[in-house]
Amino acid sequence: MNLAALLQRAGRADFNRPALVLGTDVTATYGALARDAAVLGRALRETLGLGAGDRVAIVMRNVPDYVTVLFGAWWGGLSVVPANAKLHPKEIDYILRDSGARVCFVTPDLAPSVEGTSAVADGQVRVIEAGSADWRVLLETEPLDEPLTVEADAMAWLFYTSGTTGRPKGAMLSHRNLFSMTACYFADVDAIGAGDCIVHAAPMSHGSGLYILPHVAQAAAQVIPESGGFDPAEIFALMRAHRGLSMFAAPTMVHRLNVTAEQADPDTGNLKSIIYGGGPMYLADCKRAFALFGPKLIQIYGQGESPMTITALSRARHAEAIARGDDALLGSVGVAQMLADVRVTDEGGTPLPAGETGEVVVRGPQVMPGYWRQPDATAATIRDGWLHTGDMGAMAADGCLTLKDRSKDVIISGGTNIYPREVEEALLLHPAVREVSVIGRPVADWGEEVVAFVVPRPGATVGAADLDGHVRDHIARFKRPRHYRFLEALPKNHYGKVAKITLREWLDKETEPAPPPT
Ligand code: ATP
Repeated sequence: MNLAALLQRAGRADFNRPALVLGTDVTATYGALARDAAVLGRALRETLGLGAGDRVAIVMRNVPDYVTVLFGAWWGGLSVVPANAKLHPKEIDYILRDSGARVCFVTPDLAPSVEGTSAVADGQVRVIEAGSADWRVLLETEPLDEPLTVEADAMAWLFYTSGTTGRPKGAMLSHRNLFSMTACYFADVDAIGAGDCIVHAAPMSHGSGLYILPHVAQAAAQVIPESGGFDPAEIFALMRAHRGLSMFAAPTMVHRLNVTAEQADPDTGNLKSIIYGGGPMYLADCKRAFALFGPKLIQIYGQGESPMTITALSRARHAEAIARGDDALLGSVGVAQMLADVRVTDEGGTPLPAGETGEVVVRGPQVMPGYWRQPDATAATIRDGWLHTGDMGAMAADGCLTLKDRSKDVIISGGTNIYPREVEEALLLHPAVREVSVIGRPVADWGEEVVAFVVPRPGATVGAADLDGHVRDHIARFKRPRHYRFLEALPKNHYGKVAKITLREWLDKETEPAPPPT
C-alpha cells in the first residue's frame, strides 16, 4: 500500500490533465507531477540517505511544490510532518524536535525561522528550500519507477493538533487511515468529475490539505491561490476562472466570503461546493451562505485524530433543512461518514439513548492508531478501540448528530451544564454583535459563571445591559452571561479558531471583575 499509488495512476492515465495550478497558470500536469514525486522519492532515499520510518517535515506556505514534496516523501516510503507556516519558530522547533524529522522542506519566506531552530542548529534536521539550487540538484535524480511499498499501518502523516486544549500532540495517521478518508470523501462529501478542481485557501498543513488526495485520485486540478492563503476577493476571481470549483472553508472563512459576496455581488456560477467544518458554524452564517451561494454547502465534522471523517451534513440535507426551516437539522453535523462508527456515550463508555447528551466516540479505519511517542495520551484517548473525541453531543434516532461543545469548554454553574455555543448563538442574534465567544470562570458559590467576549459590528454601540435583555428573550436565565467584555477582535489561533485559552488567561489576570448586569 502507498498513497503515492494514487498519483502514479493519475500520472499514467491522465498525464495531460492539469495537476497543479497557481492562480490560473498550470505549473504541472499529472504526468509531470508524478515524475517529480518519483524523482524526489529516490533523492530522499538515495541522495539524502533517509530510510524506512524516517520523517520529512514540510514548513511551506501553500505553493504548488507543497504537493510535490508531499507525494515525493510518500513515493520514497517516508512519513510527512506538516507544520503550519504561521507557527512561531519555537512551535516549529517543538514539532521538529518531537517528530525527530531529518529533513525539512521550506518556502524561501520561512527558511530563516526554520534555520534558527535548535533542531537545525543541532544538526538533526537538514533544511531544503523549494526552488533553491539544492532543490534543483535533488530533482536531477532518476525517478523511482514504483512508489516503495509500505505497510498499510505505516505512518503517512504526523499531524500536530492545533493545541486549543493544550500542548500539540502528534496524531499518527497511516496510509490506511488516509485511504479511508479518501473513500469517505467520495461517499459522503462530494463526487469529483472530469474538469473539476479544488482551491486550497486553508493551510495545506491542516486536515483540509488532505483533500488533495481525493482530487489526485480523480486527476482533478489542485488550484493554489497566488496569495498562498485566503483572500475572499481572490477566491471570487478564481471562481470566475475555474469551472467546477470546490473549496474547504473554516467557518470564519465562510463568514468572510458572505461579507464580501454581499458587498460585491460576484458571479459564483462556477462554484461547485463549499465544504466547511473544523469548528462550529453559526446558523446565521450558514443561512446567509445558502442564500448567497445556493445548495452548495457540505459540512464535515472531524478532528486531527480522525481527519475530516466523523460525520457529514450533505448538500441535500442543507437544502432540506432550509426548505422546511429546520434549524435543528441545519445546526447539526449530520450523520456518520461511511467508514465511521459513531456513538454518544456516558463517562463509562456506555452508549446513551437517542437525544441524550454525552461524549462523541468514533472508531473505524480512518481513526489514528495513537499519538506519536505518547502512550499515556493514547491510552486516555483511545479506549476499547474507540476514539474519545472530547466533544459533547446528542444523536437523534435517525443518526443525526448535534454537537453541544467540547467537554473542556462546558461551563458547570450551580451543578448544571451550560453549553457556551448555545449562549453564543443567542448573542449572535443581536444585530450589533459581530463575533462572540463564551467561557466559564471559576467562582466560589456557583462553580463557574458565564463570561461573554463580544466584538460589536463596525459602527454599532452595544452595552452589557442591552445584551442581557436580549439573551433573556432567547435562553434560560441561568445560562445568561454574568459579565461582558467588549473587544475589537477575538484572539484566534493559526487555524482561525477562537483561542479560549487566551481568553481564560486574560480573565485570570483581571483583579477586579466588572459588576454583573442587574
Ligand atoms: P487540540 O486537539 O490540540 O485541542 P483542536 O481541538 O483545534 O486542537 P482539531 O483537530 O484542529 O483540534 O479540531 C477538532 C475539533 O474541532 C473537534 O473535536 C471539534 O470540537 C471541532 N470541530 C470540527 N468540526 C466541527 C464541526 N463541523 N462543527 C463543530 N465543531 C467542529
